[in-house]
Amino acid sequence: MGKIRPIQKYSYYQKTAHGGFIATKLNYAIGWGRKFSIFHYPFITACCGMEYMSAACAHWDFDRFGVGMTTFSPRQSDLLFVVGTISHKEAPVLKTVYDQMVEPNWVIACGACAVSGGIYDNYAVVQGIDRIIPVDVYIPGCPPRPETILNALLKLQDKIQKQKQDLRWNIVKE
Ligand code: SF4
Repeated sequence: MGKIRPIQKYSYYQKTAHGGFIATKLNYAIGWGRKFSIFHYPFITACCGMEYMSAACAHWDFDRFGVGMTTFSPRQSDLLFVVGTISHKEAPVLKTVYDQMVEPNWVIACGACAVSGGIYDNYAVVQGIDRIIPVDVYIPGCPPRPETILNALLKLQDKIQKQKQDLRWNIVKE
């Protein structure tokens, strides 16, 4: 008859609780939490939306990076994903959505149209959404490939990690 092994006295977590400790900076820890829990609001108006959908779906799957939570309430979003052409008629709507978002928040301009108006150099189209709202990451291309969108998300996560974290959680913009 084999020897009966004693039940292990401490689980990993108990050992950590009794004997270990974690040292980090609060700024780093908050940045780490924020960059892996992004809720994004897709503001999609045109053909670049197909590339966004491709990047979000199973093959490219940007949920792997902790940015896949899509919500259509700006009050629950901290990333505004502006995808496609923005006309002057749509501009006030975009601004209203941005103003309703929680703090801190970030904006990605996806595709040449959102970045600069793209091929639509005319009176009807906004020549870049940074004329209306601040932009954190620009994605070039007409349309951009899904890899470019993934790369932009990684760059945004890097920016969130490195920035000085605002410790206020206010939901009303001043
Ligand atoms: S950048 Fe090109 S693909 Fe994207 S919305 Fe504009 S015209 Fe369409």
